[in-house]
Amino acid sequence: MPRGNTRTTLFVPPTPPYAVSGSGPYVLDQRGHRVIDCNNNYTALIHGHAFAPVEKAVAEQLPHGTAFGLPTETEVQLAELLASRTGLPMWRFSNSGTEAVMTAVRAARAATGRELLVRFEGSYHGTSDAVVAANAPGVPEAVAGTSLALPQGDAEALREVMRTRGDEVAAVLIDIMPNRAGLVPAAAEFVTLVRELTRQHGALMIVDEVITFRIAEGGLHREYGIEPDLMTVGKVIGGGFPVGGLGGTAEVMAIFDPLRELGVSWGGTFSANPMSMIAGRVALEHFTAEAIERLNSLGDQLRSGLTEAGIAVSGRGSLTRIREDVDLPRLWWALYGEGVLAGTNGLLALSTPMTDDHVHTVTTAVVTAVRGLRGGNQ
Ligand code: PMP
Repeated sequence: MPRGNTRTTLFVPPTPPYAVSGSGPYVLDQRGHRVIDCNNNYTALIHGHAFAPVEKAVAEQLPHGTAFGLPTETEVQLAELLASRTGLPMWRFSNSGTEAVMTAVRAARAATGRELLVRFEGSYHGTSDAVVAANAPGVPEAVAGTSLALPQGDAEALREVMRTRGDEVAAVLIDIMPNRAGLVPAAAEFVTLVRELTRQHGALMIVDEVITFRIAEGGLHREYGIEPDLMTVGKVIGGGFPVGGLGGTAEVMAIFDPLRELGVSWGGTFSANPMSMIAGRVALEHFTAEAIERLNSLGDQLRSGLTEAGIAVSGRGSLTRIREDVDLPRLWWALYGEGVLAGTNGLLALSTPMTDDHVHTVTTAVVTAVRGLRGGNQ
């Protein structure tokens, strides 16, 4: 394997440790080092590892089959739950957020009969051609030419594009708190402007909540009081299993109607497999408004502790980014040595089995790690 593993997104030089097991908020690696998991598989594991209700539900399904060449009730149940939380009535599932976003973009293009996708610089929307940087190796120029990346929050740039090319725009794709771009929540006025301008020009608004769905019941966009045409989810809605989901208005989602002429096809041998659907439903049933509020307040506690110690952070709710000008792989290793597994970009994602004590330990570890790096022990 190139550099010994599959995911570029979790590679740290010279090579990351390999995980052996996880339990609640902890992960054990192959050297016997136990860390508090603030990576949580890049924010997906909202209940940490081996969450008992998910384990039980999945174990009950296992002897009855894991995937079928027929639909199952389990996908309907997860779709109903998501519909009730988000207000978006129609859903479909995939095995990753990448596929959900890719299909959302195709749906928007098919539904509007337009090609141009407007998105924002620095936001990560998975690995499909339509949403990676125009100069990414392997992306054909012709494909890169069908999307436009604007600076997030730049109202003037957005107004200008919509004014001059609005009738070419199929959709504006936005992550309201983009992790890669710094985990800074978008201003309410900007999000509202995206909604207004897309409506005005007959384009769709796609909100990518693959990460931010864990911040608020039904997703972060609910806190902004806007109604997107399409919404992508993933990560937490799979309860630890592979998943992606696309929700939308009945009007737009009708593009997937198999009986519709010139509709968009949606495949995926393992899409909506019962293991992911059951695990996701049970995980979400335990991720109630109260649980979200408690977890988010642990995040507030973490950020205020770090800020008081002079560490620069961004984020909201259960998601925090360390915003220090230090070498990121060194920061990652320093944190790991202090007993904290972070994202390779300094992301810290909390999980429900964590307590005040865990947050305190994580705070101390971050302070020690950052001060060590700033002190020139680099
Ligand atoms: N959109 C966003 C906002 C994401 O953060 C991610 C993954 N980090 C994706 C899409 C892609 O999801 P996946 O990794 O499940 O393909």
